[in-house]
Amino acid sequence: MKVLIDEAQAERDAFHSCYGFFGGCNCHSMPPCGFCTHPGNPTNQEEDESCWREEPLQAGRIYLSNFGWFGEFSRIGGTGMAIFHPPGEPDMQSSWAADLDKIEREATPEEAKAYKEECNYVDKE
Ligand SMILES: [Zn+2]
Repeated sequence: MKVLIDEAQAERDAFHSCYGFFGGCNCHSMPPCGFCTHPGNPTNQEEDESCWREEPLQAGRIYLSNFGWFGEFSRIGGTGMAIFHPPGEPDMQSSWAADLDKIEREATPEEAKAYKEECNYVDKE
């Protein structure tokens, strides 16, 4: 899974605190504008390989695919695809596979909690 390196994440945080999440481009009045040239602009980072590092998926953690699906990572399958299953249910019937480059990011603790509730899964104390 591709994750931002720390410096790039800091720049992205700075970008969001400067422009919010829906900030806009001002190129119509002063091109190129600070929004478009900001190093933390996600569009710029997407194109810059040096902003990213590869992080292996970890079994038992919840990830979000870029289709918007959550799943608990189980293992890398024989075809090189990531195998996911509903939380706490490492059962082949309900598993599914996803290409590694389709994994968007790890779920936030809030998202993981909501997903587990949706699946009626209760963390063992
Ligand atoms: Zn612009």
